[in-house]
Amino acid sequence: MRGQDLGPHFTKIKDGIYVQTAKSTPTALANASIILTSEGVVLVDTGQNAIDSREIAEAVKKLTPQPVRFIIDTETHPDHSYGHWLFSPPAVIINHEGAGAEMKQSFNQKQITDQENQSPEMKAALQGFRLIPPQIEYSGDKMTLRSGERTLELLNLGTTHSLANTAVWLPNERVLFAGAVAIEGQINTIRPFTNIPDMLAMMKMMRALNADVVIPAHGPPTTNKMFDFYAGYLQTLLQRVKKLMDEGKTLDQIKAELRMPEYENLNMAKERIPGTAEAAYRAIKGGYSVDSK
Ligand SMILES: [Zn+2]
Repeated sequence: MRGQDLGPHFTKIKDGIYVQTAKSTPTALANASIILTSEGVVLVDTGQNAIDSREIAEAVKKLTPQPVRFIIDTETHPDHSYGHWLFSPPAVIINHEGAGAEMKQSFNQKQITDQENQSPEMKAALQGFRLIPPQIEYSGDKMTLRSGERTLELLNLGTTHSLANTAVWLPNERVLFAGAVAIEGQINTIRPFTNIPDMLAMMKMMRALNADVVIPAHGPPTTNKMFDFYAGYLQTLLQRVKKLMDEGKTLDQIKAELRMPEYENLNMAKERIPGTAEAAYRAIKGGYSVDSK
């Protein structure tokens, strides 16, 4: 089946692999993916909101009479994980250890009520909503999942975006679901528990897989050029923060004086670059070596 047969938001990536993607601007909404296997469906994430999650459920029904068997979360945030209840049980949800704890700790009923108040359509879509954390949390660097003819390698991305993040690599199809450590055409939030050296290491690891197609957490399907773009941004930022540190500037002065003209016009850049500057400052203080130019 072609992607457009599933609706305007779907793109076919390879045989039996579809992505619901890039529904609006300025900030690209969360992607969710459908992977068909001879032993049932695997989802990677479950949609930006309840309307999108129901659209995914409808698309699965058009594609196959088989149920969703597994859901892999690339992160813990609501725009990736709040559609679980439409599929699980019987679907089994998987993410790295710590995912369920973060989902429960950050859950806020008011967010759901606010969404219900957005529109009658959203309220109807949220009917029956429950928070469902992953039933399986793996530890260590990697977990292999086999379903029918497909092999899926779940790769631990550490705390590079939320407190539990997983990339999904299909070595036979050469498709990589890369999570939110890198993004293209916009600047992502960096949180206090995330460090830039880890982000760069994860991008290097994923880049080395040399995928045919890279599906980001947000935005259209891409290639390794996403890692080049985002690693380039972080390297440039590290170099400029290092230079200001060498001049004896304080963190507050650095946040005020740092200029990133190549990146400042991207979505969310003005809001998010100062937070990334703080992470760069922490990394350099912690001994991460940067060549300042
Ligand atoms: Zn997120």
